[in-house]
Amino acid sequence: MSETKEWARRLRELFGRRRVDEDFYEQLEEILLEGDLGPSLSEEVVGELRACGRGTRAEDLEELSGRLKPILSAHLRAQPLLPRRGSLNLFLVLGVNGVGKTTTIAKMADYYRRTQGLRNMLLAAADTFRAAAIDQLALWGERLGLPVIRQEPGADPGAVIYDAISSGLARGAELILADTAGRMHTKAHLVKELAKIDKIIRARLEGPVYRKILVIDTTTGQNALRQAEVFQEAIGVDSVILAKYDSTAKGGVALAISKLLGLPFSFLGTGEKLGDLAGFDTDRFLDTLLAVP
Ligand code: GDP
Repeated sequence: MSETKEWARRLRELFGRRRVDEDFYEQLEEILLEGDLGPSLSEEVVGELRACGRGTRAEDLEELSGRLKPILSAHLRAQPLLPRRGSLNLFLVLGVNGVGKTTTIAKMADYYRRTQGLRNMLLAAADTFRAAAIDQLALWGERLGLPVIRQEPGADPGAVIYDAISSGLARGAELILADTAGRMHTKAHLVKELAKIDKIIRARLEGPVYRKILVIDTTTGQNALRQAEVFQEAIGVDSVILAKYDSTAKGGVALAISKLLGLPFSFLGTGEKLGDLAGFDTDRFLDTLLAVP
């Protein structure tokens, strides 16, 4: 049984009880914590359910269970992320190593092509720290038939971004999807590197065409919240993508990130293939989390 289903099974078992008492609410809080909602949100959700459940008798438990989804839904912000047509947009994709940035970039390009008919796009390999990251993006570029702006490993990521913008403007491109290095060994270093890239972009592109997008790996649970805090502080995040939501119980962290940092979610990644990306749909997300049949 997948972790998601196991977590949801425990939740259903709880709602299958005969009594709504103090122990019920304590156990509910524990389950929400294990689902990665974090302490403050878990407490808040239980408080809200308590308010609905006052005077609830055993036979109303099913109704109380039905209240959980709307309560959770109210804490989650979803917002589509679409390039502004007719201008050059740059989506700077952030996140620590291994969360799925490069793959997500390829999936986004494919998504925008399929759903928006966007053709003139560029990929920018600004994760110059790892040669493998550059090669991986180049491979996706080949598969997608999209140009990849790249330099040698170790090159200045700001220079790659600068080149990509020049190239994008010259070609009349509508979207640059830029990969970045996700080293977090020292926060000061990350902040410095990202601040430099940010400055280069803002000198040439202003307003809603420039978006900073954080990819988080669902399987890392509460770590994802800490990562979001660091990137939010370092450069500011406009939108979050939840990757690897295909086999895990840890989806609750999305609620914690949305609630505590006020960040909206734009996409849900559910696999390694190009088509495994969908616009973030709160209903679908919660149905998977709660294993609604
Ligand atoms: P990066 O280091 O952040 O650029 O991460 P990569 O894009 O290289 O992805 C790391 C690994 O996660 C690769 O093996 C990807 O195929 C895999 N991956 C990325 N997104 C998903 C997803 O949504 N689901 C699953 N199951 N795997 C994913």
